Amino acid sequence: MTTPSSNAPRRSVLITGAASGIGRATAELFAARGWLVGCLDRDAAALDALGRELGAAGALCSRADVSDRAALAAAVAAFGQASGGRLDLLFSNAGIDAKGSFETMPWERIVKVVEVNLLGGMDAIRNALPLLKATPGSLCLSTASASAIFGTANMAAYSASKHAVKGLTEALAVEFAAFGVRAADILPGIIDTGMLSSQAKAQLPTTGLWRVLPAADIAQLVWDAYHGDQLHWYAPAELAGYDLAVTADPRHTRDERIAGKLA
Ligand code: NAD
Repeated sequence: MTTPSSNAPRRSVLITGAASGIGRATAELFAARGWLVGCLDRDAAALDALGRELGAAGALCSRADVSDRAALAAAVAAFGQASGGRLDLLFSNAGIDAKGSFETMPWERIVKVVEVNLLGGMDAIRNALPLLKATPGSLCLSTASASAIFGTANMAAYSASKHAVKGLTEALAVEFAAFGVRAADILPGIIDTGMLSSQAKAQLPTTGLWRVLPAADIAQLVWDAYHGDQLHWYAPAELAGYDLAVTADPRHTRDERIAGKLA
């Protein structure tokens, strides 16, 4: 853990999708460790509750939907004013899921998933980039997913959006190196948040690769990502080996999954 010296500027993190689950746990962890935390979310009530919990000294909460370009730009600008033009860590995390057959999923849902998970993240990054560039050692961190490892059937649009986030991260890690800004992403497996129905949770294993992890583990992963130097951060860490194995022979992985579905 890096401890800033007493005369160093206070570190700051801006989190999208901060009012619940992974974003909320991350806001709590960074606030507890003395960072200035900017919390953006579309859910005003949940954001108010988080603001009350963290207190005005620890958090700046703004209602913003990442698919609303004007609201997002205004919220990032307000954070930049409050932080003195610095941003050590952008955590572009807001996301929605969409389960079901690609054939029958309403088109509007597919568009929304791409708008929030991919375009909203891109817009947050572009708005925050001047602040990141002004801050030595800054990190642009996005939430991808284990669904970005190999396309996930019955979550096709979601999985495609998360593959895009992973590709975006790899491209930006190279582009932003010219500015001294790092880029990385996290690839969580199955995390106990509002995204997981209680029915799904009850059916999931408690051990192995697809065990349910608490959101606090991902907050710690975000902390580790800021203080480390990897490009992709997996949770659980064994997912890195799974990524290598299933993508080494995509035809075999495809055939195994088709066989599993037909069995
Ligand atoms: P969550 O539903 O608990 O939290 C998501 C938060 O994002 C909510 O507060 C919601 O209001 C906010 N949000 C949604 N759309 C928004 C928008 N358009 N603008 C602003 N805020 C918006 O879910 P979570 O699991 O904490 O999800 C966080 C991220 O983690 C998502 O990107 C998700 O895809 C990803 N993820 C989750 C899991 C999991 O198993 N829970 C696994 C892998 C990746």
